[in-house]
Amino acid sequence: WDDHEGYYRVRVGETLDRRYSVFGFTGQGVFSNVVRARDAGSDNALVAIKIIRNNDLMRKTGMKELQMLKRLNEADKEDRFHCLRLRRDFEHKGHLCMVFEHLGMNLRELLQKYGRDVGLHLSAVHSYSKQLLLALRHLKKCQIIHSDIKPDNILVDENKTTLKLCDFGSALDISETSEGPTPYLVSRFYRAPEIILGVKVDYGIDLWSVAVTIFEIFTGKILFPGKTNNDMMKLFCELKGRFPKKVAKSGAFRQSYFDDQYNLLHVVKDKVTEKEKLVVLKNVTVERDLLRELIGKQQNLSPTEHRKVGQLRDLLDRALTLDPAKRIGIGEALRHAFIVESLNSA
Ligand code: ATP
Ligand code: MG
Ligand code: MG
Repeated sequence: WDDHEGYYRVRVGETLDRRYSVFGFTGQGVFSNVVRARDAGSDNALVAIKIIRNNDLMRKTGMKELQMLKRLNEADKEDRFHCLRLRRDFEHKGHLCMVFEHLGMNLRELLQKYGRDVGLHLSAVHSYSKQLLLALRHLKKCQIIHSDIKPDNILVDENKTTLKLCDFGSALDISETSEGPTPYLVSRFYRAPEIILGVKVDYGIDLWSVAVTIFEIFTGKILFPGKTNNDMMKLFCELKGRFPKKVAKSGAFRQSYFDDQYNLLHVVKDKVTEKEKLVVLKNVTVERDLLRELIGKQQNLSPTEHRKVGQLRDLLDRALTLDPAKRIGIGEALRHAFIVESLNSA
């Protein structure tokens, strides 16, 4: 049944748990493959089934994901806060399976289909931003940090108006954040500076990932495409300037990133010898203009749209504050002009 990596080899036409007939595939992740099916036990409703790989670590992660989903769904009985709905779970030939409501594409796929290199329309970005922030507020209320927010883990429904956050496989209970630094938490491009530095994390890491995601769906470009954690640090400084000393000091990994004066250290590869060496970046200057990047190639912005893009810039700027203690809070972000003022108002 399984391939050599523990994925369940599922066939179209197969019936799982005597009620779900599989008719297609939707995605494959590191932890699972996900199929589309009809539920004979519920008026042939469409469902998505995440079939966890058959290995101890993945099963354990899957059990934790189940627990997180139940907590989030339980606290949101009316389904208002944009977290994926779990219908039930079962075992199939040694695989843990989770049955979800069926959704359409993820935001990565949506971006590839409709917004290659240019991004999505401002009105879509406006609506998705608000929905993502509502999801974050709900997570916080449930004392959960998602810690893997990125376009791949955000799904939209068939008509693309409603989104849902998915993949709670890396989610943390807030109490787990005192267990010590994990520098590879969150996919690299979406990883907040405090993770890289080894500062205790908080709900703010999800807000950082959301801000990076919003930039990406609006522009079609990855905001911080670093190849290493060291690279990421340099990219942060190109947008934000010198790293605040107070934050740098509190990081468990500070010695990997700063010299004694808290100048940023950057690893470069010698072109000839290919040997890595450290250079000290003393005079860090801001090289990027967020507003200009947001406007990008978009022409003919109406005055209202122009104003909204300015507001978006301000929101992203605050959410991307290097010092997590000074970063905008989720509640405040939800009250920000970009979110509350409609696109139609003159
Ligand atoms: P990762 O490698 O990111 O940890 P994973 O194995 O934990 O992945 P998910 O991210 O939960 O799996 O799901 C993989 C993909 O399957 C998603 O990116 C999405 O495209 C698709 N998918 C998941 N759930 C659904 C759903 N309910 N409806 C439609 N598609 C879904
Ligand atoms: Mg995923
Ligand atoms: Mg996952």
